[in-house]
Amino acid sequence: MKKPSMERKSRTSINQAKNREFAIVTYLFVGLFLILIAYFVYFQVVKSEDFINSPYNTRQNTFAEHVIRGDILSSDGKVLAKTVVAEDGGEIRQYPYGNMFAHAVGFDSNGKSGVESFGNFSLLRSHAFFLEQVLNGFQDKKNQGDRIVTTLDFGLQEAAYHALGENRGAVIALDPATGKILAMVSKPDFAPNTIAAEWESIISNTDSEHSVLVNRTTQGLYPPGSTFKILTTLQYIREHPDYQSYAYECTGSIAIDETEIHCYNNSVHGAEDLETSFAKSCNTSYANIGLGLDKKRFAQLCGDMMFGKSLPGPYPSNKSSFVLDGKSDRDEVGQTAIGQGETLMTPMHMALVTCAVANQGKLMRPYVIDRTENYKGVHVKQYRSLEYGSLLAPEEAEKLQGFMESAVENGTASALNGQAYQAAGKTGSAEFSNTKGESHAWFTGYASTEEKGTVVVTVIVENGGAGSTAAVPVAKQVFDRYFSGS
Ligand SMILES: [Zn+2]
Repeated sequence: MKKPSMERKSRTSINQAKNREFAIVTYLFVGLFLILIAYFVYFQVVKSEDFINSPYNTRQNTFAEHVIRGDILSSDGKVLAKTVVAEDGGEIRQYPYGNMFAHAVGFDSNGKSGVESFGNFSLLRSHAFFLEQVLNGFQDKKNQGDRIVTTLDFGLQEAAYHALGENRGAVIALDPATGKILAMVSKPDFAPNTIAAEWESIISNTDSEHSVLVNRTTQGLYPPGSTFKILTTLQYIREHPDYQSYAYECTGSIAIDETEIHCYNNSVHGAEDLETSFAKSCNTSYANIGLGLDKKRFAQLCGDMMFGKSLPGPYPSNKSSFVLDGKSDRDEVGQTAIGQGETLMTPMHMALVTCAVANQGKLMRPYVIDRTENYKGVHVKQYRSLEYGSLLAPEEAEKLQGFMESAVENGTASALNGQAYQAAGKTGSAEFSNTKGESHAWFTGYASTEEKGTVVVTVIVENGGAGSTAAVPVAKQVFDRYFSGS
């Protein structure tokens, strides 16, 4: 009776030894497999991005041979770009909302622009489930590329697009607390669905005024007009801690050596302090202020405010210019103080200065890719909000906020007064030609509620006339939409 039991015992221990051996081999394979996957993931996520993520790199084309380009979505999940595969395997890139997102999302033929360009790498990568990818590999089928979820707010983009109407110009909306680009409209625009067919006629129109490929939000350089008084005011406050005692009597014009500067529409503003000069956008008062400023320090301030520098953010941008220096003559100084002269700014630059003012001096880097997901919505990568730096001190920002509120309460932006949200801003009517009365209409400002926080909106309507009548109503439609939440 004992023997068989012993035999059983020894057979059991042999089995146990075999199991152990088997387990070790299994673990070894699993381990190797995990290392392999880890390397694969590491390569995909970390290493490859460095040298593949260049629009000029031909390796991206190799990716396109294995991956169907992913979708681009608005922050609320609307598909802004997708690739449809025909029965013969041909791929067509479609933009369901046509021109509405033309410059923000971009195009993907005859080169690339917008999210299609700087998001190219993510769109051509696939994090489809591993087994699915293996199976696709065996069947010689392409994997579905990852999708990009942008920060673009569909309703806000729609409101901005319609508010600008048939005008040439730009509208941009940003969240100053995070740097999220919520809306970006530039007109004239193009039809991304048919851009390939229309390419020859598009590029043969070299007239920059009508060039539809120019993203005016970041590439359009305009005289800032009176919106620039935000910066003149900041310089004045820095040089004059007693700025509240500033007093000026506007008679409608001021003579400076060879030239005369007039108030808009030949208005006569009478007795003013700094705040009323700002709220009413008095040119003669600001020319007077400009003449007393330290030109070198003013140039330094503008350098700190990103003039002559590349702007942060994913979209290619032109550098704004500010040319005042110690040698500038009085005419030039007077013109510069009111945003004329040689000063040129992009609407994005103006929007970023406004973001810094609205955000207690701190500027967040603008960004438009919120996250990437695989095609089934499984999280791949989340992009974080990053600080660019401090453009002005918090107490300076607060002072400018007060002035911008005043422009809404008793000044040129009064069409924004008495709304369900609290608005602040500055208008501008920037002369751009020698023909009297021709000006670009500007507005830059922000609005907030307790519930929805703050949104910055910057508008330029080319040849629109006065900022108060042509640009403020555009901004108002965007604010209305943002705070209505519909
Ligand atoms: Zn005046």
